[in-house]
Amino acid sequence: MSFCKLVKFYSISVFHFCRLTLLFSDSRYICSDTCNLQTAHKGTIEMLRRFIGQASIAQRCRCLISRQSSADTLRRCSSSATASSQAPVGTSAEQPTNTQFSDDYTSQPAARISIDRSGLSNPPEHSHETSKDSELVKHLKSIIKFRGGPISVAEYMEEVLINPKAGFYINRDVFGAEGDFITSPEVSQMFGEMVGVWAMCLWEQMGQPDRVNLVELGPGRGTLMADLLRGASKFEKFTKSLNIHMIEVSPALKKIQKLTLKCEDEDENTATTLTGTPVSWHSTLEEVPTGLPTIIIAHEFYDALPVHQFQKASRGWCEKMIDVAEDSKFRVVLSPQPTPATLYLLKRCKWAPTEDLSKLEHVEICPKAMDLTQNIAKRISSDGGGALIIDYGLDGIVSDSLQAIRKHKFVNMLDDPGSADLSAYVDFPAIKHSAEEVSEDVCVYGPITQSHFLGNLGINFRVESLLQNCTEEQAESLRTGYWRLVGEGEAPFWEGPNEQMPIGMGTRYLAMAIVNKKQGTPVPFH
Ligand code: SAH
Repeated sequence: MSFCKLVKFYSISVFHFCRLTLLFSDSRYICSDTCNLQTAHKGTIEMLRRFIGQASIAQRCRCLISRQSSADTLRRCSSSATASSQAPVGTSAEQPTNTQFSDDYTSQPAARISIDRSGLSNPPEHSHETSKDSELVKHLKSIIKFRGGPISVAEYMEEVLINPKAGFYINRDVFGAEGDFITSPEVSQMFGEMVGVWAMCLWEQMGQPDRVNLVELGPGRGTLMADLLRGASKFEKFTKSLNIHMIEVSPALKKIQKLTLKCEDEDENTATTLTGTPVSWHSTLEEVPTGLPTIIIAHEFYDALPVHQFQKASRGWCEKMIDVAEDSKFRVVLSPQPTPATLYLLKRCKWAPTEDLSKLEHVEICPKAMDLTQNIAKRISSDGGGALIIDYGLDGIVSDSLQAIRKHKFVNMLDDPGSADLSAYVDFPAIKHSAEEVSEDVCVYGPITQSHFLGNLGINFRVESLLQNCTEEQAESLRTGYWRLVGEGEAPFWEGPNEQMPIGMGTRYLAMAIVNKKQGTPVPFH
């Protein structure tokens, strides 16, 4: 046997061992899941069996997972991500001494909130030298200049990501080996398929309604939706019930989504030829018509929502703001007074255990995530259905996680804004509390790890079924993709070059569901 064959044989054997180990160690999940499914919904088991048994590798618009792409960082995940989590680059401000809230924050906050910009440095006087600044940098500086002071990190983040002219997402494809980061649907078709299984199970629990809104927030290249539809295409009753709504701000990504879904015309209202399902595009969830039961998918959407950052200082919690320094570069300063976002900080702090708060020097909050969640919860409580949120984040208050990634490397978030992705850990308890606060008709489940979520939905059986009917190259892609979705850390079966080592993200990504109580507990959150 040649060395290559030996290596191949060995890596496959080890993989099988790992997979079996996973199956064994996860057998609790599989058994309990099966029992739950049996007791909860009789048709679901059959649906899962038929779905998982389809041994078809999707014909994608791009290669499945090339050797090259296994060297990519899954979005914000590389060995350096572990080291740098909660320790971003270039955002430190003044060191605080006092660890208490100042009185200003606790007594009548609404009456006292204002921004005193006088203690902050103003941008330098207008210079006539030719500037090498990008359009976005000029725009950010002009906001700071004409406002007469710094802007919040959230405002900076929002401009950087989705400024209609020059935002990071707006004009280009940022995903994959050639882009800046890679996401789970791009890693393996199994991700979208498993999300499809979740959606079908929920639809089944909803009593198989004839018409359903299937909404995806931030669909990227549209890969998750395409894999979901391909996987579900044999379940015609399900696919026929769907009206798909894609929530996307980026014109460039909308175009790619239409290609991925094989839509024949360029209109905002069209149909995917994958299943004949109608698809329409919107900028916000509010634009999606109400009145139909709704299934909402948000994968790696919440982490792109703008966060406000706070730091403990001698005068209490101060918001970190972005200013322009004397040398014309961006820098972080602390607000001298409570800012409007302080109201959300107070709200978030009420949901946190006191002992957690007392340990923190930094806190990150995402008011847009709280507001979005409340819109989702209201819609689900009035129209029925549920939402699935999968993202990297914490089951606790987030301290300091905002990070910038350009071409698969961590960079300073203040450096060349618009050329790097900005994202922050998702605060899952804040989502749970926001949903529960606004409606008594919804229940929130999780977060559970992505590995638990995908494992309980049957990804082990799916990978096995796909491996039986594929080329060697596809088998390797399936193995590495599988590991990256459900594994933890470096793949123990990997025999290839170190720099291409698949890194498992199964425990760093979490899944949460918000479901109308009428629907009962969604799989696999039992
Ligand atoms: N879900 C995809 C892409 C995640 S990246 C995947 O997993 O591959 C974030 C996506 O959200 C992109 O499509 C981006 O254009 C979109 N997006 C970011 N902020 C948005 C906003 N405020 N409104 C609508 N879409 C947004």
